[in-house]
Amino acid sequence: MKNKKTVLYVISFLVFLSIAVHAQNYNDALVKAVYFYDANRCGPDVASGNVFDWRGACHTQDGADVGVNLTGGFHDAGDHVKFGLPQGYAASVLGWALYEFKDEMDQAGITSKLMSTLRIFGEYFLRSKTSSRFYYQIGEGEQDHTYWGPPEEQTENRPAYSWADSGKAGTCVLGQTAGALALMYLNFRNSDSGYANQCLTLARELYNMGKSNIGYSDGQSFYQSSSVYDDLSWAATWFYVIDGDSSYITAINDYLQHPNKSGDQPLVQNHWTMCWDDMGLAVLTKLAMLTGDSTYVNVVEENLDYWINDLNRTPGGLRYLNNWGVLRYAAAESMIALLYYGHTGRQEYFNLAKSQVDYILMDNPAGMSYIIGYGSNWALHPHHRAANGYTYANGDNQKPAKHELTGALVGGPDQSDNYTDDVNQYQCTEVAIDYNAGLVGALAGIMKYSGTPSTPTPTPVTSTQTPPPGNLLGDVNGDGSIDIVDALLIAQWYVGLEPSNFIPENADTNCNGTIDIIDALLVAQYYVGLIAGFC
Ligand SMILES: [Zn+2]
Repeated sequence: MKNKKTVLYVISFLVFLSIAVHAQNYNDALVKAVYFYDANRCGPDVASGNVFDWRGACHTQDGADVGVNLTGGFHDAGDHVKFGLPQGYAASVLGWALYEFKDEMDQAGITSKLMSTLRIFGEYFLRSKTSSRFYYQIGEGEQDHTYWGPPEEQTENRPAYSWADSGKAGTCVLGQTAGALALMYLNFRNSDSGYANQCLTLARELYNMGKSNIGYSDGQSFYQSSSVYDDLSWAATWFYVIDGDSSYITAINDYLQHPNKSGDQPLVQNHWTMCWDDMGLAVLTKLAMLTGDSTYVNVVEENLDYWINDLNRTPGGLRYLNNWGVLRYAAAESMIALLYYGHTGRQEYFNLAKSQVDYILMDNPAGMSYIIGYGSNWALHPHHRAANGYTYANGDNQKPAKHELTGALVGGPDQSDNYTDDVNQYQCTEVAIDYNAGLVGALAGIMKYSGTPSTPTPTPVTSTQTPPPGNLLGDVNGDGSIDIVDALLIAQWYVGLEPSNFIPENADTNCNGTIDIIDALLVAQYYVGLIAGFC
C-alpha cells in the first residue's frame, strides 16, 4: 500500500509539474501584444501616450492632396502605407476581443490602453469620411516600399490613393470598417456615448454605401480581397447584436449564398481562418454563438475539426495554413477556437488553441518566443522600418533592430519549425497590425479559460467520433495496457501539448464530457489498483 501511495504521489506531482513547467505568462504576453500598436501609430500625435520613446510624429500631411485631414490611424506593417482592409480588420478584431474578453483585459490591466488604441482607429475612420467619400488608403504601396528608414524621416507627400463613393465601389473595406465601428459603439457606449453614437452612425452609413454599390475595394496588389459579402455580413452581425433585428440575419443568409472568388460556398465549408480577406468564419462563429443554428454550427465545427485533424502541421505541432505570416493564422484560429470553446465546452477546441498559443510563446522546436520582448529569446531582425532604425545604406538595415519592437508577433517559421531571423525574409520576419489582432484575442481567451478550467455546457467529446477498433478506456496511447504513461499523456493533453498517437476517445475516464486532470488521476489510481474500472 505504501508503494502505491508513493506512485500516486509521484503521478500527482508529475501531473501538476506538467502544468507548471509549461505555464506561460499569458497576462504579460497580452499586455505586450497590445503595446505593439503604439509602434505603428501614424500622424502628428504619435508621441502622446506612446510606450515607445523612439516613435514620434510622421506623415503629418496625409490628405493634404485632397484637402481632407487624413492623418492618424496606423501603418500597415513594417511599411508605412495605411491600407484599408487590414486597418478595418485590426480594429474589428481588437474590438471583438475587448467585447468578448473585457474581464481578462481588466485583469491584465490593459483595458485603458486597448481602448485608447481602438479610439485612434475610430477617430481616423471618422476623419476619413467626407460628405460623399470614404478614404481608405493613404500612400502608394510601390513607392512606399522603395523607402527604408524611420517613418518620422519619410517626408515625401503621399497620396490619398483609394476611396469609395457613389461612383467607386469599395464594399470590402466599407463592410469591414462598418463592423469595426459597430463594435466601437458597443465598447464605448457606457463610457462615452457621444463618441459611441458617432461611430454607430458612421457604421450604418458605410454599410449602406457598401450595399448600394457592390464591388471590390482597391488595395493594389497588396490587399486584394476574394469576396465582398463576408464583410457586409460582418457588419450586419454586429447590427443584429445592437438592434436585435432579425432582418440582419436574413440579409446575412442571403449574402453568404454568394461564393467567393475561389468558388467556396461560405455556408458549406470554410477551411481558411479569420483574416483581413475573409471574415466568413468570424461571422459564422458569432452567429453560432448567438443563435445555435446548425447552419452556422456545422461550418464552424467542420473548420475547427479540419484544423485539428487535417491541416498540415509542422513536427512541432504548428498548424500551417500559409507560409506568409503563418502565425497570424494560427493566432486568429485560436481566438475563434477559444470563443467557440467558451460556448460549447468542447475540450478539443481549447486544446487546439492552447497548443498554438503556447507554440507562439515558447513551446516550439526553435526554443524561441515569436512575440518580441516576451520570454528571453526572440527575433532581433523584424522587418519593421521604425524599429530597425537604419537605412539601406551599407546594408545597415540588416543589422539587429535598434529598438525593441515589444509585443510584435513576427510572421513565423517554415514548415520544419525553422525560423530565419533575417530582415529581408519578410514572410518570416514582418509584423503587422492584422497579425497582432487575432493574437490579442487568443491571449485574452486563453487567460480566461486556462486559469481555472471552465467547461460551460459540457458536450461529450465522444459524441461525434467513432471509437477505433480495440477501444479501451484509459489506454490513450493504444498500446493495449493502462499504465502511468497513459496518465501522463492525459496530463500532457490537458495542458495542450498534443502528445503523438493520443486517442482522445479513450481519455475521458470519468465520462463527464471533458478530458482533464481528474482523468489522469483516475488512470493512475487504476494502475495502482485503487479502483477497478472507469465509468
Ligand atoms: Zn506615419
